[in-house]
Amino acid sequence: MPIEVNQIVRSKRKTLALIVKPDASLIVRAPLRASERSIREFIETHAEWILKKQAEALAFLPPAPRQYVPGEMFMYLGKAYPLEIVKGQKRPLLLEEDFKLAESARSHAARAFERWYRAQAKEILTERVHFHAGQYDFEYRKIGITSARTRWGSCSANGSLNFSWRLILAPMEVVDYVVIHELVHTVFHNHSKRFWKKVEKIMPDYKERRKWLRKNGQQLTL
Ligand SMILES: [Zn+2]
Repeated sequence: MPIEVNQIVRSKRKTLALIVKPDASLIVRAPLRASERSIREFIETHAEWILKKQAEALAFLPPAPRQYVPGEMFMYLGKAYPLEIVKGQKRPLLLEEDFKLAESARSHAARAFERWYRAQAKEILTERVHFHAGQYDFEYRKIGITSARTRWGSCSANGSLNFSWRLILAPMEVVDYVVIHELVHTVFHNHSKRFWKKVEKIMPDYKERRKWLRKNGQQLTL
């Protein structure tokens, strides 16, 4: 894909220069007579540098605030669904093939979404914990749902498990990794070698799942 140039600024300078602005837009400073072709070639030669700078710039941009308008995308279990606003719908929010937000809930859409995610998180995590605990013989006491932003799960000394509702924006493989991680903590209350060995025995590819969470975790938010 060709790199998009947002602005070419010509002046009496002698050389070409590239500037990636904090919003990731690309400015080319060029001599008055530089040809389009020489500018294009210059950009292509430096494509790798430009893309790297743009990625860095974007990583520092705060996420755009949600507007809750039709077509806006929302994640659920690793898939993105577009938003639809529906007139006369009784429940504030539903997920069918799209997310359907009742028009009457639009003024408090963030709350409607959080409630919906929390309810789903409770149901899914309860089911997954129950399933894996049965499969691998773990004992736990109860399951709570938090709204932590980076602490995806935790396990107390008495075996109560907590999970952030944000976790269910991630793919199921990642949800399952956090579930296994916390269940193993009911036996090993630390991150010792024996802890990781046990995690790996149950889930041989846990490192990839953990990597996904480290890389994408900050995007698991409304
Ligand atoms: Zn842990």
